[in-house]
Amino acid sequence: MEIAPVKTAPVGEQDPTAEDWRAEAARLEPLPAERVIAWAAERFGDGLVLSTSLQAGGLVILDLAHRLGIPLRVLTLDTGRLPEETHEHVERVRRHYGVDVEMVSPDASEVERMVRRAGPNLFRRSVEERRECCRVRKVEPLRRALAPFPAWLSGLRRNQSAARAGTPKVQVDLALDPAGRRLKINPLANWDEARLWAYVRDHGVPYHPLYDQGYLSIGCLPCTRPVRPAEEPRAARWWWEEDGPRECGLHILPTGGAQ
Ligand code: SF4
Repeated sequence: MEIAPVKTAPVGEQDPTAEDWRAEAARLEPLPAERVIAWAAERFGDGLVLSTSLQAGGLVILDLAHRLGIPLRVLTLDTGRLPEETHEHVERVRRHYGVDVEMVSPDASEVERMVRRAGPNLFRRSVEERRECCRVRKVEPLRRALAPFPAWLSGLRRNQSAARAGTPKVQVDLALDPAGRRLKINPLANWDEARLWAYVRDHGVPYHPLYDQGYLSIGCLPCTRPVRPAEEPRAARWWWEEDGPRECGLHILPTGGAQ
């Protein structure tokens, strides 16, 4: 795949400010996914990483980068509670793209402390305990893994849930770094399910086997189920919770609000 290069706005001698990035984000917003990925690869080089739970969105980004000849580093969270199908899917993705999917684990002693205090399934007790489990198994490990990278690619899309409706293609990542030192790039922000799955079909992208069992949002085994008719994709995550955003903390501000 060949595409026209995107000219990067000059940002001066010093590191870009939040205002510089806002202007750059506005300029990139109308561009198609492949041009946003190409811009990010050129701008950040090996400081760019794809973090993905290997759902369809992340795999489409990997496929686009692969076709552009961009050798992306790929991180995925191994929370300790993933379904076996996800591990099989990791192997399939490694073979298909010839990439080393780097599995990021939580801090073992922190998991042990949490489980001793509140049991292995603490997430069923309250939203607070569920968020604590997500913090230990997901948020802190990803925060550590992303620390060396000034930019990361995410498969976030606006139509996944109301909480994600305002997702821009490029944003300063205040959820994982309140100091705003990292960019989060969401090249598929404006893609809907139909477009995503048309791409997957047309390009032979390997997809997670649980999609064929009615799952639309796939994470830890005990915390997701197949979606029901008319539900939005993320309604099946932590389905026992009555309200609040169905988010684990990777994409929302520490205050609980959407970015
Ligand atoms: Fe824990 Fe469930 Fe969050 Fe996984 S999705 S980290 S099991 S609360």
